[in-house]
Amino acid sequence: MPSDTPINLYDLTRPALGELLSGWGYRPHHRDVVWTGLYRQQARALDEVEGLRPDLRSRLGEHTRLGHLTPHHETFSSDGHTHKLLLRLDDGQTIETVLMRFKGRATVCISTQAGCAMGCVFCATGQMGLSRHLSPGEIVGQVLHVQRLLRESGESLRNVVLMGMGEPLHNYEHTMAAVDVLVDPLGLALGPRFITLSTVGVVPGIRRLADEDRPVQLAVSLHGATDAERAALVPAGRRWPLDELMDACRYYIDKRKRRIFFEWTLIAGRNDTAEHAQTLGRLLGGMDAHVNVIPLNPTVGYDGGPSQPASVRAFQDVLMSHGVPSTVRQRRGIDIDAGCGQLKSAVERRTRRSLPTSP
Ligand code: SAH
Ligand code: SF4
Repeated sequence: MPSDTPINLYDLTRPALGELLSGWGYRPHHRDVVWTGLYRQQARALDEVEGLRPDLRSRLGEHTRLGHLTPHHETFSSDGHTHKLLLRLDDGQTIETVLMRFKGRATVCISTQAGCAMGCVFCATGQMGLSRHLSPGEIVGQVLHVQRLLRESGESLRNVVLMGMGEPLHNYEHTMAAVDVLVDPLGLALGPRFITLSTVGVVPGIRRLADEDRPVQLAVSLHGATDAERAALVPAGRRWPLDELMDACRYYIDKRKRRIFFEWTLIAGRNDTAEHAQTLGRLLGGMDAHVNVIPLNPTVGYDGGPSQPASVRAFQDVLMSHGVPSTVRQRRGIDIDAGCGQLKSAVERRTRRSLPTSP
């Protein structure tokens, strides 16, 4: 990076900020003044950071910036619980962030990439392809954006789920730097048990996560319990077949002594029969696993539909007979395109329709 490009302060972990400032001759105390200003006070500009020495403020003003995300479009679900935001990045890309307020507990679902390279057939983000990785500051910026909204109404954020656009383990370094910022005890101080990272099953990333002991709960998207059925929905299954994936999951559970959540999007007639549930039950039986079943949120680019409630219950019963617990995840905010990547594609379709067709 050329030295005259201002550094986005939200890209830095606290140690990295410390290195920058110590290189300029400042003691760790000054790092913590800046840090608490950014994350405790949630200052929007350097001028608002309390206790910042004027010489440090002008140095920071010269070499750094505070990269805020700009709201581009937003929708609210009819029940008012779900607030979906399309946020614009500096280069004009847009990403989705979803705030869910439920019984006084707020959860935010954030993106780790603009688009996604993994191409899952039913996923609106997969249908777009990958534009680029997000920087740590763009990942953290989504949380800060909703924190400010929550503060206005006196609420606080409890859960962060990395389940928006993109594959977090395909953007490992930036995602983990962002997680370090989110859990930093002098900053946002989110609880490690309340951050969930969902992956399509990037095997090297799962093994690395097991070795590095990152403060996240792991969720693995399966959707198929044989290689052929899985690869038809999740092309990444061809690169990381189920035996390799399940070995990596067992390695993670053994090493971290932590359970894994497995996600299963239920698609009527495709992966929701009792037979599918039997195969999944045999695959996960005996593991410290919990399955989240999510009836499909239909997307424009895929012809499948969601499973009927009776099939969902039958699916869960079969899993239980294998000793595998499961929970149905609600498709909250379905009336506002709240599935991954759906708001962005809906807004783009509307924009295309409203563009003048002749000069
Ligand atoms: N890339 C990661 C995280 C983002 S997707 C992953 O795939 O796990 C988060 C979850 O939403 C995944 O389980 C994904 O399969 C699921 N999902 C994506 N599109 C969906 C849709 N249209 N309906 C239901 N679930 C969907
Ligand atoms: Fe990417 Fe996850 Fe969507 Fe698959 S489901 S295309 S991995 S965002």
